[in-house]
This record gives sequence, C-alpha cells and structure tokens, in this order.
Amino acid sequence: MFHGTNPPSRFLPYLTWTEIAALPDRENTVIVVPTGATEQHGPHLPIAVDTVISAGVMGHALAKLPASVPAYALWPITYGKSEEHLHFPGTVTVSGHNLLDTMIDVGESVYRSGFRKMLIANGHGGQPQVMEMAARELRLRHGDYVVVPHSVWRMPNAASKFMSDREKQLAMHAGHGESAIMLALLPEHVHMERAVASYPPVFPSKLLSPDGRPACAWSSRDFGPSGVIGDPMGATREQGLEILESLATSWAKAITELHEAKWVVRDEVTWGRGAQTGHIQQRL
Ligand SMILES: [Zn+2]
Repeated sequence: MFHGTNPPSRFLPYLTWTEIAALPDRENTVIVVPTGATEQHGPHLPIAVDTVISAGVMGHALAKLPASVPAYALWPITYGKSEEHLHFPGTVTVSGHNLLDTMIDVGESVYRSGFRKMLIANGHGGQPQVMEMAARELRLRHGDYVVVPHSVWRMPNAASKFMSDREKQLAMHAGHGESAIMLALLPEHVHMERAVASYPPVFPSKLLSPDGRPACAWSSRDFGPSGVIGDPMGATREQGLEILESLATSWAKAITELHEAKWVVRDEVTWGRGAQTGHIQQRL
C-alpha cells in the first residue's frame, strides 16, 4: 500500500523489529532515504513532485538490484525546506533548522538499528546544503558511519539530450526534466495543457555568474506569477520513461558500489578526552 515503486521486499517499514535485528551484514546494507518536498511546481504539476521523483527513482533503482545486494528504502521525507516557494498555495515548508534536526535524528536512528551506510537521495534543489550538514554531523559523531548526501538527478541520465541549451543553462524548477519524468511516474496528475514557460533573467555579472544563472538569493515569484522556472512545453512521457530508466540504472550501480565500498575508518582520535576507537567524541 505505502511502498510506492519500491519492491515490497526492499521497503524497510514493512519489516518487524525482529526481522531487522536478524538481518545479516547490516554494516554493509544500504539504507536509502529519499528526501523531497511539498511545494508548488507551476500550474501543470502537483505539489508532490520532488517527493514523487526522489522516492520513485530510488524505488525503480532498488527494483533493479540483484538479491545479493542488500538495500532498503525508508519512508521518503515529504516535507522539505521550501521557503523559496511559500508565496504559492499548497507549499508546506519546514525551517532549515527543523529539517537538519530531522535528518540527524533519522540518521541516528538508522545507526542505532545497526546500519552503517545511509544514502540520502534528495529531490529538492532548495535543501542540498541541509543534507550535507546532516551527513557531516553524523560522520563526526560516528567514525564508522558512511552517509552519502546526493541529488537524485546528479547521476548519468538521458535528460540533457531532450533539452535546449537555454533549458540546460537556466531551468531550475518545474521545467522539461521534472515534467517529463512526472509524465512517467504519475501521468494522471500532470496537466500539460496548463504548462507555461518562464525563465529567470540572465544575471548581469559575468564574474559572479559566468553561466548567467541567478547568483543572488531568489524566491520563485521573482521570476513571474506561474511558479515555473524553465520550459516544460516539450516534455513527453516517452522522454520521461527514458530518463527514469537511465536514472534508475545509474542509481542501482551506485547503490551496489556503496554496498561494496570499504571506506577508511578513522580508528584513532588524537585529541579530546574520552576518545574511543572508531568514534570521534570531541571536535576541535
Ligand atoms: Zn522540483
């Protein structure tokens, strides 16, 4: 019912605590936490986009894994730091502090359950910094914890071959890529007949912004009344299926690599009282 695109056998919330306690090789089992948002995505896409994409792509990736690679998805984080879209109805945002605390608490819980590899697959462009801060904090607390904060889109995929140069340069939100993959993942809730294009102005400083993207902080209403930052008009379901397949294939390889990775554990800390093998108790 709640597993979405994940194979039910790879959806951790369906397991009992005794089953989790009995899992072999928890240290090298990859726990995937998709992080999304609930925020406006223009008049043609539902507010669920970032959550649907992060959870949907990772579910398809997990479905591609051989049984020999242990990996499970947790629930997606459905509320994100979406303040840049708060002028539009439907946007639900939490503060950066709250999201940071949530991610650290989730990460601590995953660690406490015996797992040592967590992959944060983020689908919302407004919060990669929060994920990086959470991952760093968890690493400093537990020297044997491998936490990877990553963008669900930042993997080899087919999207760029369908996009114009301008789209590749300036699109940021509800544009061609997101619209196409939503047509693959949740087509009944995509309304392409309402799609509009809206680009930000090229930023005038060549030193601050060599590629012309906004170098200053912005909110989405700065770029027009639609909430779109890009051009979704040419997106099709066929493109979306190809993008989804390519992302899922790349992520399945990446999860396999993370499962197999032997990251160097810092086994001795030379400062601070109470230092223990494998743990950093005190930071300079
Ligand atoms: Zn988005």
